Amino acid sequence: MNKAFKGYRCTVCQTFYTPQRDLMACPSCGGILEIEYDYDLLKETIDIDYFKNHPDRSMFRYLPLISVHEPVHKNMLKVGWTPLYRSINLKDQLGLKELHIKDEGLNPSGSLKDRASAIAVIKAKEGKHDVISCSSTGNAASSLAAQAARAGLKTVIFVPKRAPVGKVNQLMVYGARVIRVDGDYKDAYDLSKRAIETYGWYNRNAAINPHLVEGKKTVAYEIIEQLGFHPTDWVAVSVGDGCTLAGIYKGFYDFKKLNLIDRIPRLLAVQSEGCAPLYEAARLQKPPRPTEEDTLADSIAVGIPRNPIKALSAVIESKGQWITVTDEDILKAMRRLGETEGIFGEPAATATLAGIGKALEQGIIKPDETVTYVMTGNGLKDPKNAAKAVDEPVLLKPNFNELDKYLKDKGDIPDV
Ligand SMILES: *Cc1c(COP(=O)(O)O)cnc(C)c1O
Ligand SMILES: [Zn+2]
Repeated sequence: MNKAFKGYRCTVCQTFYTPQRDLMACPSCGGILEIEYDYDLLKETIDIDYFKNHPDRSMFRYLPLISVHEPVHKNMLKVGWTPLYRSINLKDQLGLKELHIKDEGLNPSGSLKDRASAIAVIKAKEGKHDVISCSSTGNAASSLAAQAARAGLKTVIFVPKRAPVGKVNQLMVYGARVIRVDGDYKDAYDLSKRAIETYGWYNRNAAINPHLVEGKKTVAYEIIEQLGFHPTDWVAVSVGDGCTLAGIYKGFYDFKKLNLIDRIPRLLAVQSEGCAPLYEAARLQKPPRPTEEDTLADSIAVGIPRNPIKALSAVIESKGQWITVTDEDILKAMRRLGETEGIFGEPAATATLAGIGKALEQGIIKPDETVTYVMTGNGLKDPKNAAKAVDEPVLLKPNFNELDKYLKDKGDIPDV
């Protein structure tokens, strides 16, 4: 039992609810719920010394700060404690003083979504459910399917028709029951909602399930720890539903409340120009309007974002900024990240790098500021779009003279 987990507060009507099984959205108004903690109680155990030599090298090193009760995490796949690389080459190319890259592509199913799905599996077990379901642009689904397989739970997954093949293959290999919906993410979401309500499955849908953000926030905790409790001026991440952004904010907020850091970094929230309802909402200071999902960055192609209140306020509270990038920028950034740092990101993840570059150009981020780039997903998931970012490799006869001529013509490999 986590004693510090006080309960839930509605982000719309502010009603407070004590901890209870399977509570999703606010029963009185339907608003998204936010988990609240007793920070005074947490302060008794969580201080700098808590982290020194902590043996758990996964997201569950932060267990007292997560709203779960059962210690089932002991048998789970290893999620979190991913590397934070100090950039060597890329920061110079960008003209930036200091850049750190948090490689979330190294989680078990290859994306940051593993942090949320770990919590979903624990919560489903707490609620004695046998089936978990979600709709997803891809990564939420594949992470859920992986972890549910390990936990012995069944999954029913709804994906939009154009979910990338790498992600759908993952789902099939992890043994999920996959429903491809002949429509976009909105359609997949609506069908899953109806099915979950009808059949009583555990709901892993983004935003609606208030515990998922509590998993995602652990990425911020790790960034803080890995930077020696001195976070960068900025933290950049791409945004679809807004749960990742909200989670990162919550992580910084918690550590600020616990006096472990003295300020919350400014959040750079990146959307794709082809689908930017939250960017527009922030610009117009109005609630987001449904938009087309016209971008190759499938993980952030979210026409109706499910977590607008938390996402918009995270940027306001952190004195951050919204920015959009084009698909062309995203593919260029994919190649740049690979070439300079040896990290392969999927389009939604390299959108963030494109956003950092654009924010520098526009003077939003200053060259003497420091930035953490949350690289949210592995590029192996989406080979089709990766192929668009690069040229086709040459095909030669198995003949040395032909090779020698080719390399000399190119002239860019030393020692030839
Ligand atoms: C889901 C996802 C995002 C955005 O997260 P939201 O919670 O939908 O805003 C960004 N990048 C990747 C790789 C993702 O899978
Ligand atoms: Zn409410």
